[in-house]
Amino acid sequence: MDAEQLREYGHKMVDFIADYYKNIENFPVLSQVQPGYLRKLLPETAPAHSETLQDVLEDIQTKILPGVTHWQSPDYFAYFPSNSSVAGFLGEMLSAGINMVGFSWITSPAATELEMIVLDWLAKALKLPDEFLSTGQGGGVIQGTASEAVLVVLLAARDKVLRRVGKDAIGKLVVYCSDQTHSALQKACQIGGIHPENFRMLKAVSCRDYALSPDALSEAVSHDLATGLIPFFFCATIGTTSSTAVDPLPALGKITKSNSMWFHVDAAYAGSACICPEFRHYIDGVEEADSFNMNAHKWFLTNFDCSALWVKDRSALIQSLSTNPEFLKNKASQGNLVVDYKDWQIPLGRRFRSLKLWMVLRLYGLEKLQAYVRNHIELARRFEEHVAQDQRFEIVTPRKFSLVCFRLRPPQSNEDYANKLNHDLLDAVNSTGKLFISHTVLSNRYILRLAVGAPLTEERHILAAWKVFQDEAATLLSKC
Ligand code: PLP
Repeated sequence: MDAEQLREYGHKMVDFIADYYKNIENFPVLSQVQPGYLRKLLPETAPAHSETLQDVLEDIQTKILPGVTHWQSPDYFAYFPSNSSVAGFLGEMLSAGINMVGFSWITSPAATELEMIVLDWLAKALKLPDEFLSTGQGGGVIQGTASEAVLVVLLAARDKVLRRVGKDAIGKLVVYCSDQTHSALQKACQIGGIHPENFRMLKAVSCRDYALSPDALSEAVSHDLATGLIPFFFCATIGTTSSTAVDPLPALGKITKSNSMWFHVDAAYAGSACICPEFRHYIDGVEEADSFNMNAHKWFLTNFDCSALWVKDRSALIQSLSTNPEFLKNKASQGNLVVDYKDWQIPLGRRFRSLKLWMVLRLYGLEKLQAYVRNHIELARRFEEHVAQDQRFEIVTPRKFSLVCFRLRPPQSNEDYANKLNHDLLDAVNSTGKLFISHTVLSNRYILRLAVGAPLTEERHILAAWKVFQDEAATLLSKC
């Protein structure tokens, strides 16, 4: 590492990135390249001799950026957002600069201790129960993704119950969730050795806006107990991926508690909103949960990746995931004086990710973060208002956060036709390059999802997006 070269190249790269952000609205939001485009543009083998940074930057401009879908564009409304910010970017830069691998406390005490402190800060901002704080038996940890978060708690819960009932009972363990739960849980079950037939996706009900009914959970658990199975894990979602449904935590939590099940709450997207007092009620009942997860990299201005997971009983995680090879032994770990985050996650190595979350919390402060989330929710409300006022469209589920689920009403009431029409509308809108949205299917209906949440989005972008929908809908309907 040549410090002077870093200074020179670093300045050039920062300039390049700043220009990227300055011009981001000029790119088609959804990359318009065809599969395999890049192989035609790059050499077959790595260069034998060094090239200049200028050469590389030119290739990035001409060959890489056309193949990028611009998640930070203010006209990006697909899936859920994945925020960046100057604070998050600087934290990432510092983490890359220090480039330590903090698997055990001793490998960089500051990395472990800052992560514990910052996750305690965030837990307090979310008003999570004190049992989730690192000062007691629990604590927070940064995972890469919500998928890793649910996997590690599933493994902890599985091993906890198997210690009680015996390892041979693994085939009897049952996992519950709603059919709106993210597929990350199914993957966790596959990895965790849960029998596929014991993965229960209970039907969420449309009359409850696709939230899970506590009766459905209660009935499924009773039925499984009666047939000799062992219910052990339930995952509720606050802000489901399709339509931001909110599962009723207090009633669901009671059922899990009375059946000694692990209760995980996935608030990957909507957790960020819960730092606002007016939205905190969505996680009322989290007191009953064993673990809680939100992705700071979704809607909390923290560059990917940063998924915050809290558990009430850290020993359950550690018992499942710890190994103690000779080459990692050290006085602090042996003396049980410290947290070694290697025992709370799948990989050994880990980055200094708490730096960026710490910088976001400090450079914004909670008040600005609250205002940030509120602004997106208000922009989504305005978009929803436009949709509701246009007779050609309908709102499909009531909006809770910053996601609007809507669709074009078909001229004839034929569901297949309606689905095709909305599918065509999505394609037409995304092909303009002017914005990017995604879709879902609810009760066999193809639905358009517009998720507000890019840091640069303003009202003018919402208005422009609505205009594209109106224009493309008019063209499609004129062909009907
Ligand atoms: N849970 C919910 C509710 C989500 O919306 C998502 C992704 O959008 C996930 C989990 C998975 O997130 P990750 O990519 O962090 O694993």
